[in-house]
Amino acid sequence: MKKIAILGSTGSIGTQTLDVVRKNRDLQVVGISAGKSVKKLEEQVREFSPKIAAVWEEKAARELSERIRDTDTRVVCGMDGLLELASMQESEILVTAIVGMIGIRPTMEAIRAGKDIALANKETLVTAGHLIMPMAKEYGVQILPVDSEHSAVFQALHGEKRDQVHKLLITASGGPFRGKSREELKNVTLEDTLKHPNWVMGQKITVDSATLVNKGLEVMEAKWLFGMDLEQIQVVVQPQSIIHSMVEFKDGAVMAQLGTPDMRLPIQYALYYPERRCLDGERLDFAKLKAISFEEPDMETFLGLPMAIEASRRGGTMPTVFNAANELAVKKFLQRKIGFLDIYDIIGQSMDRHIVRENPGLNEILSAEQETYQWIEGRW
Ligand code: NDP
Repeated sequence: MKKIAILGSTGSIGTQTLDVVRKNRDLQVVGISAGKSVKKLEEQVREFSPKIAAVWEEKAARELSERIRDTDTRVVCGMDGLLELASMQESEILVTAIVGMIGIRPTMEAIRAGKDIALANKETLVTAGHLIMPMAKEYGVQILPVDSEHSAVFQALHGEKRDQVHKLLITASGGPFRGKSREELKNVTLEDTLKHPNWVMGQKITVDSATLVNKGLEVMEAKWLFGMDLEQIQVVVQPQSIIHSMVEFKDGAVMAQLGTPDMRLPIQYALYYPERRCLDGERLDFAKLKAISFEEPDMETFLGLPMAIEASRRGGTMPTVFNAANELAVKKFLQRKIGFLDIYDIIGQSMDRHIVRENPGLNEILSAEQETYQWIEGRW
């Protein structure tokens, strides 16, 4: 029996992780958590009987405790609760399906407690990859990618020598606005932005996919996960989302991982690595597929990608500023307080004013995050 804890069990990745658990009787969920979704957590407690349910908001935690009084699940709350869930003795692997930089501290706590990490929460590696990767090595834990692009690279690298890699080819769908001009992006609505052509995901990552910030975050994530230089990572637009990413080796051979867009595959691969298990669902039918096409990303219009590359190149606290500015800008866009293109302005201006602190520790990362939020709040 493999015992897992899930940070963010009520979201898109969290609920798909639970789907994988439902289909595999040798997986047991020992911990779940959410920000405030009490009803969904109650359903999950009743179905999976975890030892711990961690809730971020205090009021929601009290409500959940009341609702599940008749069960053996213990409710814990706030950051202390997330840290307790992350390091709980009973779990072997933590699925980080929480959204945003809030995932950093629980991920570090889990590593310190010797848990493997099935990592969906890319914001953690983007901002603290220089701390997380050496820690994972020190504590002998595996960081197993859940993001479909990184899982594809991980699968293509299986059995290969890292020093024989020439470059990574990270694929992108291009999002719902592929082909649009900057002028046309001025008036796009929240509803248009939330219509991703191929994937159903949480709201934040769906907006990030439309701005190409998500692809930028993925480039930074790949840099840390696979120990690559930025110059060795190329983004290729592949609008059908069939090729999930590729690796080009020194001899020119390219290995790709293909499949239908279904996040349960990378989740399951991370949970059972290096084993493969059966997975139901649609399979690729090449006769029906007919064509897979490729384009270069439009870096002039979709500034999320070049700004992320710039943040990564400048290093230190700059990726944190890029990420924090984006998190707050997306929140404001979801609340209809700003327009689509304002997201780029907020990120760009936050980066312009920031003086990089090299090699930041956790406290410096968290203070760069807070400073960025405060600066933005005074202006937008
Ligand atoms: P969702 O918004 O669907 O889910 C986020 C989860 O995090 C929810 O369970 C939410 O709880 C929980 N959460 C939010 N804030 C807190 C908090 N303060 N404390 C505890 N829990 C909290 O996000 P996704 O599942 O789409 O994405 C999760 C992560 O995975 C992101 O980093 C994303 O980039 C990455 N990812 C997602 C993919 C996808 O297909 N969705 C693909 C690849 C990567 P509540 O329900 O209460 O809000």
